[in-house]
Amino acid sequence: MEVIMLKYGEIALKGQNKRTFEEILIKNIKYKLKPMGEFKLSRMQSTIYVEPQSDDIDLDLAVKKLLCVFGLGAVQRCLVLPKDYAAISEKGVAYLENALRTAKTFKVEAKRADKSFPMTTPMLQREFGGDILTAYPHLTVDVHNPDVTLIVEIRDRGAYINDTRLTGAGGLPVGSSGRALLLLSGGIDSPVAGYMMAKRGLKISALHFESPPYTTERAKMKVETLCEKLLAYCGAIKLYTINFTRLQEAIQQNAPEEYFTIIMRRLMVEISNRISEENGYRALITGESVGQVASQTLSAMSCIERAARFPVLRPLVGFDKIEITELARKIDTFETSILPYEDCCSVFTPRHPKTNPKLKEVEQIQESFDYEPFIQQSIQEIEVKMF
Ligand code: ATP
Ligand code: MG
Repeated sequence: MEVIMLKYGEIALKGQNKRTFEEILIKNIKYKLKPMGEFKLSRMQSTIYVEPQSDDIDLDLAVKKLLCVFGLGAVQRCLVLPKDYAAISEKGVAYLENALRTAKTFKVEAKRADKSFPMTTPMLQREFGGDILTAYPHLTVDVHNPDVTLIVEIRDRGAYINDTRLTGAGGLPVGSSGRALLLLSGGIDSPVAGYMMAKRGLKISALHFESPPYTTERAKMKVETLCEKLLAYCGAIKLYTINFTRLQEAIQQNAPEEYFTIIMRRLMVEISNRISEENGYRALITGESVGQVASQTLSAMSCIERAARFPVLRPLVGFDKIEITELARKIDTFETSILPYEDCCSVFTPRHPKTNPKLKEVEQIQESFDYEPFIQQSIQEIEVKMF
């Protein structure tokens, strides 16, 4: 039988509250594997064992899914055999064919937790290494820098023959740090920002501002696709879509052009505040990065931030575009993000945005017009969709 062994990442360092993190992690793993069939999960020390309960379960796919679960440091598939060297040799050697086919060098690491096993660790290492060499004569042993390290563990419940250990997604289990609202545009940055904060254990809901007819249905579908892509990492996502058109038109009619973007962002933040207050989100997340565009200078960011009643988390604040793009490719949002549909901001972008706005001025301009009825109307018409 094959099982998947999972090792904790950062949770292993937790003290008294470790239990809580473990429980959320296990719940997330179950949720992720549920559509794939039945699995039995058990936990010993800092290892979780995932045992498929039927033969038709696709373990490759299970591994792939588990590699996106935050909180895990390593994901490793292994074969469980009876604690009998004849079986270990025969079945274990054959099992490792995939891992060894393209390797040139290997070493064997034996671990013997069950001391009643008749062979000593060095003996087991020597015997198994010898059997591997006989079966795969193209290999040589290299104890210092092997292409593949084979691990044979004699544990209480059986002998475990380990395939390649893969690095897990790291971070903390989604949901262990509370809930937050991601301001999700259709661009490259905000989905990556959502991924980054989910990695810190936040459960994410998303809020998208659309501006029909300036933005199209396809732009909205793009955002929905981004939510679907984020599911691999985030668990279920609730997406709020809000019609921002009347607010943008009001800004256009009532504010000097160079202030459009700043005021628009402040109103976005105001709406985000209300949705958060109403639904218990504890922080706002944006894809901002210092200096990237005119609205992301320090002065602009501080004018925008002053509209917030929650911490504004900006996980990309120190990243450059290349780093962000790499992450976007890794989490498979990049191709969707670069689809060429207008977003609500590009439609109303001023020709010369203010890069050094003063809060007093911005507040005065904003207060010279009553946006409240528009905000309320937009919130009343909000659309909610679950992913
Ligand atoms: P992105 O690539 O995420 O669109 P950007 O580099 O285009 O970011 P801006 O357009 O200045 O930067 O937006 C800054 C942040 O404001 C975005 O990362 C996002 O969090 C939020 N935001 C912008 N437009 C929208 C929108 N239409 N709906 C929701 N949030 C938005
Ligand atoms: Mg954008």
